[in-house]
Amino acid sequence: MATVEWRSPASEMAVKQFEIVAERLNLDKNIAGRLKRPDRALIVSVPTRIDDGSVHVFTGYRVQHNDILGPFKGGIRYHPDVNLGEVSALAMWMTWKCSLAGLPLGGAKGGIACDPAKLSRNELQGMTRRYTAEILNFIGPDVDVPAPDMGTNEQVMAWIMDTYSQHKGYAVPGVVTGKPVAIGGTQGRKEATGRGVVYTLIEAAKYLRMDLSRCRAVIQGFGNVGLVTARELAGLGVKVVAVSDRSCGIWNDKGLKVDDVVSYKDKNRRLEGFSEGEKVSGSKLLELPCEILVPAAGEMQITGKNAGKLQCRILAEGANGPTTLEADEILKEKGIFVIPDVLANAGGVIVSYFEWVQDLQNFFWTEEEVNKKLKEILTRTFHEVLETSRKQQVNMRVAALMIGVDRVARAMLWRGLYA
Ligand code: NAD
Repeated sequence: MATVEWRSPASEMAVKQFEIVAERLNLDKNIAGRLKRPDRALIVSVPTRIDDGSVHVFTGYRVQHNDILGPFKGGIRYHPDVNLGEVSALAMWMTWKCSLAGLPLGGAKGGIACDPAKLSRNELQGMTRRYTAEILNFIGPDVDVPAPDMGTNEQVMAWIMDTYSQHKGYAVPGVVTGKPVAIGGTQGRKEATGRGVVYTLIEAAKYLRMDLSRCRAVIQGFGNVGLVTARELAGLGVKVVAVSDRSCGIWNDKGLKVDDVVSYKDKNRRLEGFSEGEKVSGSKLLELPCEILVPAAGEMQITGKNAGKLQCRILAEGANGPTTLEADEILKEKGIFVIPDVLANAGGVIVSYFEWVQDLQNFFWTEEEVNKKLKEILTRTFHEVLETSRKQQVNMRVAALMIGVDRVARAMLWRGLYA
């Protein structure tokens, strides 16, 4: 039986960040009390037939933090460490992220504690369909719209969409985003998060007067977010000197040929064994000399222990919650410019919003339109955050969260319950 525990290091971090921001905003204490907790949290048992004939019962979650601005929105994660506290933190960050980007969406997150790398396609499909059936009454295009996150992809979204549609008796593409284009997905969703990281980096480099073509980048995590970020940065002439995945890190200070790394990863499903670079440990990778560091894997990777050793000029948070509060203070002292997660990786949910809108209208856009609109929103939001950070004399994270939290709080006041 899984332990039911609200509190986890990630949820405590998310709540503490919120408290700092609530104090800066002088937030009404009734509103603050409400926003510290999610609207709803589901824990479901997911019995799944394993290929050896046995049945394994996985534990699944869906946490809906706040839907004052619109339907809940947030990814589904498959990872062994998924727990209620982590999912709650991720759901809260989604609320601020959607609000910051000006999207008419709320925040949610879901996941199953499992190791997708150890499951066959058949097992993954069975588990996904059963999980969908268990949360079916709590999702839907007007209610809560899941998307991919760590360990899930467009195939998983297609299974969720199909299970939901079978239940309704007709195709409901708007129930998930990040699904294949063939069944109502949008152009540019798969690349959106990594592209968004790079759009915010372009603005940061302009502000800091850095020439990107003279910069070196180090990227932790080589999945959806990390891989696209590496490819897009290389396309701008940035020298990608190190990348890593769960299997290992590889470093080549002359610059890695990103296309070769991608082909190797596609073929072998892991980076280990790639020969055109030196093997480097996960912890060492974060401390390598570079101008741009992009964590694009799990939470709490940059902590009080290693923040002082970072050598980058810009930290662009592709991952959610990669930096602890203690590390934030150290980074500030070191003068490292942080593009916080709710801004840097917002490209994913922005294009998910575009996908949802296209599904509701049955009218689809070209990839150029998607990318142009994505760039406009992220560029505008970057400068809004920068301005708030300068005016309020706070770091970029607090500035971004101040904007996000304030919009949600104002909507709550308008709707009346807390005035
Ligand atoms: P993914 O499953 O596609 O890839 C994750 C990658 O991280 C894999 O290459 C994995 O091997 C690697 N990894 C895991 N643990 C690691 C470790 N300790 N050291 C180095 N590498 C490690 O996941 P993703 O969708 O790319 O998500 C990555 C992060 O970005 C997560 O924090 C997620 O919440 C965030 N994010 C994703 C999206 C999206 O659209 N997919 C959007 C916003 C934020």
